[in-house]
Order: sequence, then structure tokens, then C-alpha cells
Amino acid sequence: MSSADRIKAPRGTFDVLGEQSAARAVLEERARAILEGAGYERIETPAFEATELFARGVGDSTDIVRKEMYTFADASGRSLTLRPEGTAPVCRAYVEHGMHKLRQPVRLWYLSSFFRHERAQAGRYRQFWQVGAEALGSEDPAVDAESICLLAALLDELNVAPVRLRLSSLGSLAARNEYREQLQAHLRAHAEGLSAEVRERIELNPLRAFDSEHPGTRAVMERAPRLLDFLDAEDAEHFAEVRARLDGAGVAYEIDPTLVRGLDYYTRTVFEFTSEQLGAQSGVGGGGRYDGLVEQLGGAPTPGIGWAAGIERILLAGSAPHPAPVPVDLFVAYELAHEGDSPARRHAPAGAFALLTEARAAGLTAQMELAGRSLKGQLGYANALEARYVAILGAGETVLKDMLGGGQQTVAADAVVHAVLRGLRSL
Ligand code: AMP
Repeated sequence: MSSADRIKAPRGTFDVLGEQSAARAVLEERARAILEGAGYERIETPAFEATELFARGVGDSTDIVRKEMYTFADASGRSLTLRPEGTAPVCRAYVEHGMHKLRQPVRLWYLSSFFRHERAQAGRYRQFWQVGAEALGSEDPAVDAESICLLAALLDELNVAPVRLRLSSLGSLAARNEYREQLQAHLRAHAEGLSAEVRERIELNPLRAFDSEHPGTRAVMERAPRLLDFLDAEDAEHFAEVRARLDGAGVAYEIDPTLVRGLDYYTRTVFEFTSEQLGAQSGVGGGGRYDGLVEQLGGAPTPGIGWAAGIERILLAGSAPHPAPVPVDLFVAYELAHEGDSPARRHAPAGAFALLTEARAAGLTAQMELAGRSLKGQLGYANALEARYVAILGAGETVLKDMLGGGQQTVAADAVVHAVLRGLRSL
């Protein structure tokens, strides 16, 4: 039989295997403890949404919407998009389920996969995972500070180091629009120094010029007006209060007036955690306030703030402690009826399967031999699993080996589970 061409996972995607999977389980458990301990409840939203949600929510002028979305028409011709981020879906759910009627702020967290058609490289994938937290319904600066502190705590818990926290405020939409015009004027006046890409985006998305690595653009941006100077009194006061709360909590940060995040919905507080450990893709997680987003999606005016952090990057930059493996109470082995058969033909006797299911029904963790290994091979396997007991089914009797204590006893087939339970209880 000729083997067919092997099919590989698409570029920018990966399988989560073995140790990686265990590390993710620890991360999820820690995130749950920190966030639920702070009053956040888990939310799952669909993997795809109406394209309009992101076009309106994230913003038509953003790179995400313009270049990176996996958008398709389904069989009924509806335009759907694999979610590229989590905030717009959470706000959609808030409006759709009338969560404004609940006690505010409504705090939700998620751990899900997201999809962006990006240039794939280390730390940047086309399907990636984020843990995120959103608090809707309060504009108290304490909510901003708490949100930032929770991400700092999570990164600390997972030993992500060394991290830098950059912080800024984008002010209200009105201040931002006024600033935008001034920035555009500055960019137009110095257009000859800018990269072609930045020049093309002067009208559409001038703030992204701050993200450019192009030396000419950087020189122009050094002399550019700063958004922080355009904040109105209320926004400046809000920002000062957020900083004071963070100072009080002992969280170190740097004010970075060039911090612009790649999504249109941010207002007031924005922040980003980076780790030197990560090289070019240094962003571990970030977020900010989005006081206009819920209204933009058809809800009542509702303030909100949140963040998302990349799971792959957290794991690259940190070291999640290993989870304790689930112990195996009983391994069911058996003597082979016909040693001469090939391993593929050595099927386990019915009694072995019956003992396995009986043990599980009694609440034990149990595994059995399923690959026709020799008895020596089976015991080696049970050892590798660190099974506490091994039952060896013979022609007429069952031998129960205590792998920890070293002893063994012959027991009737229907007394094995009882003997294991008794043995475990006597520990
Ligand atoms: P963003 O939603 O762009 O603010 O991203 C938040 C965090 O998600 C970033 O700091 C990264 O840790 C992570 N992230 C964003 N895009 C990707 C990607 N393509 N691959 C892996 N992680 C990503």
C-alpha cells in the first residue's frame, strides 16, 4: 500500500502536546484562582461572530480589521469572522444578555483561542490563545488599577520576568480627535522623512506612526505633539488617580506617551506589559479602557476596561510550575495466553477490562495494558506510570503487587478492588 502525502497543520498554527498541555493547565488554574478570587466570572463566546462586530468594534482603520481577519461567507451568504480578539465579543454578550441589569461592574474573564492572519514567527501565530479580563459598568480609577494589578499578579505568579509596564492615557474621543488633527498636520509637514507605509496612513490611522521602527519616522515622531498634553481636566484627573492607586499598590510602571494600542476602541487608560525575554515580539499582554465601545455596539453608554495576555508568550517568558500528575491507583496487567502471537494479536482478556471498569466505578484511577506487551514490559510500563498497585491476571488467580511497599498477595478476582481500596486507606 503506498502512503499518501502527509498533511501538515497550517502555517502559524501548532499542536499543544504533553508538557505544553500540562503547563497550560497550570496557567489556566492560576488565572482562575486570581480572577475568580477578585470577582470575575468565566465567559465563553463563539469562535466566530458577525464580521460587523469587529468592523464596528475594533475599527475599520486598524491593521486587524484591514489585513488580519479570517473572514468568510457561510452557506447562507452571511459574512462571519473568526474572532481576532476578545473585548468586542464580551461587549456584544453584555448587551445581548442585558447584563446592565446585573450588579455593576460586571467582571468577566476568558481563556480562548483567537485568529489573526499575521506573519508567522516565534511568538506570533495565526491561531493563538489569550487569557483576558473585562470589567464593565464602572469608570472608577480603582477598576483600572485593579485590572492592571491582576495582570501583574498573574505574570508574577507564572514567573514571567523581567517585565516592564508601560502606561498612558488616550483621553476622551473628543480630545483624541483634536489631537489626531494636530498629529496629522505634523506628519504632513514632515512627510518626506516618513516611511511610505506611515505616509499612506496619515489620514486613516496616524497614531500608528508611533509604532514604526523606521529611523526617519522615529525622528519625526520624537518632535510630534503628545496626546497626554491634550487630555481635558477630567481625563487628566482620572489618569492621576489611576497612577496614585498603582503607586499605593507598589506596582512599578513607566509613563509612555507614545503607547498607542492597535485597536480603535481605547479611551483614557492604556497599558502594556513587555518582557525582555521575548525579543522582537516582546508584548506579553496589554489593554485599556473602552468607554465608548458598548454604546458603539448598540448598548447604553457603559464604561469598560480590560486586558488580554498571550498564553504562548507567557509560557515562553515564564515558567509555569509543573502540575502534579494524576496518580494511577491500579494498573491491570495480565499473563499472555499465547506468548508466540505477534503483539498486535495479543488482545487483553475480558477479565482485565472487567476489572478496569470495576475499579473506576469504585472511584479508583485505573489503567490497563492495551498494546500486547510481554509481562515484563507491562510491569515496566506500570512502573513508568508510577502506578500504586498492579493486578496481574493469571490463568486461575490474580496477583496484586504493591509497587510502593514492595509486597504482593494472591487475591480472588472479585476482591482486587476491595484490597486496593483498603491498601490506599491504610496509607
Ligand atoms: P492585542 O490583542 O493585540 O493587544 O494582544 C494582546 C496579547 O496577545 C499580546 O501582548 C500578545 O501576548 C498576544 N498576541 C497578540 N497577537 C498574537 C499572535 N499573533 N500570536 C501570539 N500571541 C499574540
